[in-house]
Amino acid sequence: MASVNKSTVKDNVKSSKALKMVYFFNEGNKDMKELLGGKGANLAEMTNLGVPVPAGFTITTETCHLYYENGKKLPTGLKEQVDSKIAQLEKTMGAKFNDPVNPLLVSVRSGAASSMPGMMDTILNLGINDKVVEALIRKTKNERFAWDTYRRFIQMFGNVVMEVEHHAFEEEIHKIKSRRGVQLDTELTANDLKELVKSYKALVLKITKKSFPENPITQLNMAIEAVFGSWNNARAITYRKLNDIHGLKGTAVNVQSMVFGNMGDTSGTGVCFSRNPSTGENKFYGEYLMNAQGEDVVAGIRTPQSIDQLAKQNAVVYKQLVAVRDKLEKHYKDMQDMEFTIQEGKLYILQTRNGKRTAHAALRVAVEMVGEKLIDKKTAVLRVEPNQLDQVLHKQIDPVAKKKGELIARGLPASPGAAVGKIVFTAQRAEELSKNNEKMILVRTETSPEDLIGMNVSKGILTARGGMTSHAAVVARGMGKCCVSGCQDIEVDEKNKTLVIKKTGLKLKELEYLTLDGSTGEVFKGQLNLVEPSLSGNFETLMKWADEFRTLKIRTNADIPRDAKVAKTFGAEGIGLCRTEHMFFEGDRIKAMREMILAETLEARKKALAKLLPFQKSDFLGLFREMNGMPVTIRLLDPPLHEFLPQEEKEIAELSKELKITTQKIKSISASLHEVNPMLGHRGCRLGITYPEITEMQVQAIMEAACELTKQKINVMPEIMVPLVGNVKELQHQKEIIKRVADATLAKYKVQLKYMVGTMIEVPRAALIADAIAQEAEFFSFGTNDLTQMTLGFSRDDISKFLPEYLHKNILEKDPFAVLDQTGVGQLVQMAVTKGRSVKKDLKMGICGEHGGEPSSIAFCHKIGLNYVSCSPYRVPIARLAAAHAALKSAK
Ligand code: PEP
Ligand code: MG
Repeated sequence: MASVNKSTVKDNVKSSKALKMVYFFNEGNKDMKELLGGKGANLAEMTNLGVPVPAGFTITTETCHLYYENGKKLPTGLKEQVDSKIAQLEKTMGAKFNDPVNPLLVSVRSGAASSMPGMMDTILNLGINDKVVEALIRKTKNERFAWDTYRRFIQMFGNVVMEVEHHAFEEEIHKIKSRRGVQLDTELTANDLKELVKSYKALVLKITKKSFPENPITQLNMAIEAVFGSWNNARAITYRKLNDIHGLKGTAVNVQSMVFGNMGDTSGTGVCFSRNPSTGENKFYGEYLMNAQGEDVVAGIRTPQSIDQLAKQNAVVYKQLVAVRDKLEKHYKDMQDMEFTIQEGKLYILQTRNGKRTAHAALRVAVEMVGEKLIDKKTAVLRVEPNQLDQVLHKQIDPVAKKKGELIARGLPASPGAAVGKIVFTAQRAEELSKNNEKMILVRTETSPEDLIGMNVSKGILTARGGMTSHAAVVARGMGKCCVSGCQDIEVDEKNKTLVIKKTGLKLKELEYLTLDGSTGEVFKGQLNLVEPSLSGNFETLMKWADEFRTLKIRTNADIPRDAKVAKTFGAEGIGLCRTEHMFFEGDRIKAMREMILAETLEARKKALAKLLPFQKSDFLGLFREMNGMPVTIRLLDPPLHEFLPQEEKEIAELSKELKITTQKIKSISASLHEVNPMLGHRGCRLGITYPEITEMQVQAIMEAACELTKQKINVMPEIMVPLVGNVKELQHQKEIIKRVADATLAKYKVQLKYMVGTMIEVPRAALIADAIAQEAEFFSFGTNDLTQMTLGFSRDDISKFLPEYLHKNILEKDPFAVLDQTGVGQLVQMAVTKGRSVKKDLKMGICGEHGGEPSSIAFCHKIGLNYVSCSPYRVPIARLAAAHAALKSAK
């Protein structure tokens, strides 16, 4: 059966009895991810491709949804369907639950439509009990293996399903190890493990007041329920939030016959990638452990061996694995992440999925796959997530500083980039310090999914244990965070908050500085200087392809030539917002600015403005020169004036001396400028209307700079922008001044130059009367920071006081100042576009609020027909790629 008829599913939800809730692997395919989850759909696909997959079945995500709709009860009819698939599985495998000769054991794993590694529950070895363990001994003639399997099952099931804390089991192991005087689990004998099974069961009974279930079917039903339950555990919810996973029905449950990687030296288990997930190199890549069970590799408790070793250890299996790699990559046309188990020399594939990869790897794989004719350019562009580019744009350690740096340890290069920060030993501490904007390096023996939030707020992660596919490495790569894992040179003592370098004995304490290089695995003492990355090769190629497909122009928000230059190297096609006030804060400028604000007469103010004019003009000269041939939108003064006045006594005294104004006077003027709601107060065009001389000075500076450069054959394209307009007359007033001063300046310089006058649309009223405003404006630029503030009634400076609660309680899905609220604010933007263009068909429109660099907001801007988005320099590449994605997806 290839797919499910949607309406049938809907009808069936009402009567779950008739709904097909369970699919044998050969009944599904890779396109059924929504229903079977990613893991289930791919197991089905591999089964059909003839890849050696242990037989099994998948319970649908729809069933998980029903479980929650039913008030967390398994839907009626499910048990019968599972029973019938178990019968089919028993037949396929020639093994049976509870069978004294050939007992069937299964794994029970979660698997949603989007991959959520390690976030939900897994149970292995299900089906074992007092009777079955004996059968297993008879069958395998491996007593130790059988008891180890049993105790592993009780531990996992006891923890995941019966909620007995993990450490309680660890204590039991510890007790028995010290009784036997041994250090490692592997040193425990079959008898020890048998004893452990007994004490585990006693522990479960003591804590839960329930005996450990013996019946495999009971075990299975309990496990299914636990996996459904884990869909909504705290870390799964956090993971979905952090990774923007929405709208899924739930998790599927995969029940699959067990294969054992821990049956001795001819057995093993591993994780491999069809290409290197860190660099993208087209070279088979992976890790494995002999005589180990699945989770041992990802858990990072033992450091695994590189996959190349397998070629030496078992050439036949290695060759088979390489053949599977080739087959799956060609079939999926993407880099695959596979899990395998070797049971007594026989290879099984337990999972395949499109591999998570660093941005460097994503770029290389995408570009090289086009070269290999596996995919086309459009697919390649869509393969790289815009936000992921942040990693490529990440800093590296300055090579000069690196040479002099004190290299203290070396681990695995688990996730690229570099990070400097203070050492913290727990995720909680990282969270705590992040509130003070501290930069931290999270140092752990190994990380677990509970550390997710702490990892997210840290600059980098360093772990003593675990390979490239350990939790720390996988999660850090996903987050684009620098990570060095498996650093065996170090010993971490989380309790006493120390990190010791084994070879040298160097001891580092909490809050001391470390520098990490996630691209090489190097760890340095102290703070090393970081430098910007160089952008060429695959990055450049893919960005060029992206530019072929996008229709939106990408500009940047830049106030000084240096930022404009950076943005240009990133591909900016103009300046969408120059906030002129940012030019007033440095050196002598702030003095002149303060003099202007404190001036009590028009004459005094004009005198102060005359001092500001050359500063402004030289800034504009720099910007225009840098942006030769590209549009530059300059916004007139916007913030409330009190922001420029000193607050500290010492500074007030200094200013008083410099300007020869008494401190009392300064304080009284400052007090008169005080506003209860400054964001809604005397700012934006209201300044230019009350002090027209400010607008005059700014326009004169802009136009003089433009004229001088035009004479030097530099192509200047100034766009003068009026902020915070909500009334046509405000714009008319300012436009009259702008035109008068600009035309006079042109005449004075005898220069012909096209300049434009436009407005920001950032007050809701401006959006509502955009048709009237369009009569006066030559362009619109949406200031979605203020527009969000005023539409939602949320102060942009104080939202952090309640945003975490709002997100936690799901009142808001996202921070509306980071991701455009398309349903609310977006409606105003769309309305303004329609109304504006109803008056002027070709009215140029863009966005310059923070949302201009955010991919989902960029997609919205594309959809409603803006001409450009403008964002901070470092987001320009992200915006280019996001614009290409938007164009390609909408064309689809
Ligand atoms: C805006 O409001 O979106 C904007 C770009 O202006 P500012 O952030 O300077 O208020
Ligand atoms: Mg604004």
